[in-house]
Amino acid sequence: MRPYEIIKKKRDGHELSDTEIRAFIAGYVAGEIPDYQAAALCMAIYFRGMTPAETASLTMAIRDSGDTLHFEGIHGLRVDKHSTGGVGDKTSLAVAPIVAALGVKVAKMSGRGLGHTGGTVDKLEAITGFRTDLTTAEFETIVNKVGIAIVGQSADLAPADKLLYALRDVTATVDSLPLIASSIMGKKLAADDDCILLDVKTGSGAFMKSEADSRALAEAMVDIGRRAGKRVRALITDMDRPLGNAIGNSLEVIEAIETLNGRGPADFTELCVALATHMLVISDRGTVEECEANVRRVMADGSALDTFAAMVKAQGGDPEWIYHPEKFPRAPYSREVPAPADGYIVSVDCEGYGTAALLLGAGRNRKEDVIDPAAGILLHAKTGDAVKAGQPMATLYASREELLDGAEAKLLASTVIGKDKPAARPLIVGVVE
Ligand code: URA
Repeated sequence: MRPYEIIKKKRDGHELSDTEIRAFIAGYVAGEIPDYQAAALCMAIYFRGMTPAETASLTMAIRDSGDTLHFEGIHGLRVDKHSTGGVGDKTSLAVAPIVAALGVKVAKMSGRGLGHTGGTVDKLEAITGFRTDLTTAEFETIVNKVGIAIVGQSADLAPADKLLYALRDVTATVDSLPLIASSIMGKKLAADDDCILLDVKTGSGAFMKSEADSRALAEAMVDIGRRAGKRVRALITDMDRPLGNAIGNSLEVIEAIETLNGRGPADFTELCVALATHMLVISDRGTVEECEANVRRVMADGSALDTFAAMVKAQGGDPEWIYHPEKFPRAPYSREVPAPADGYIVSVDCEGYGTAALLLGAGRNRKEDVIDPAAGILLHAKTGDAVKAGQPMATLYASREELLDGAEAKLLASTVIGKDKPAARPLIVGVVE
């Protein structure tokens, strides 16, 4: 079937076959199908959706579009976690060392920031010298020795996703359930982990804004994982407010270190404990209660922090930065943002906060932009907190003074202050198995 026929079939709401989906993706990656036809198919999928079978076919086509990894050199069960993307979401930095400290291998491929959301690879690169481009042999050796390594995705892993993602980013087709599910699961399945815990975000800072859409996304991804024979579970978690208090790369690494030292913000600590617990449960390490007790133990006795420091050392960074986070370079310019009125922070546009951090230099406007690791925001008040007019709500950090104005305006425009304390939203909204 010609690409034209495939686009038309989806446009008219019919189900595509596995052969048609695979042929289209293979043709696109080979350069035989142009961007405009792939964009048209994405838009048709955006409006028409996909059946579970079509979504699974698209996922497998993405998985098979490049190399699939087989870590034969790694001994033992491997577990991974993946977040659908959020603001201040530095959970991998804390959760992966916790799980590794308890003997489950974490061979993790992470992404860079995307739009208003941050990425683990950018955060780790805030540690001078930290290498996220290990060879497979180096990666396997470090996972076997330390229990954990985190690298960026190699260019040959799921190349169809790289092409499609860049296209979706500029054609308003990112927030489509089958396209997100196949993008995430295509990459995860290519990386060949045994167990995958998904952190599906919901709210104004997430790609899926409503709880119903987030739940449907979680169910779709768990279904794909099941079809591929993996152990997959998803937590649906709140992203209607930034996670923790830090947004921006080195600020977030420091917050993850503080959390492993037992001094992290309550919401971020709660989510780390929950994610690590479920990663251990799907890796057959005991009941929820047993796993949670072990998680809290390795956070309290310093072994999770030691595992983080050992990974940093093995990947070329200075482990002293983990024990003395004051060594991270600070941005030369900072500004406190005063609350404009008395009252409570009733709600925030979490995506707006992510954009404010991006304006300070913590994210990219274009793919080729260079991140400023020291740039970002420290929040002093969050949704539900009482504020007084003039009291600092946040501190902004940047390497150029002129970046502060735009970020301050964005932050203020993204914050709603009212008279009544809002009802508390749960952080963990649901579990999908
Ligand atoms: N993260 C991904 O990897 N892909 C998406 O489509 C959305 C978030």
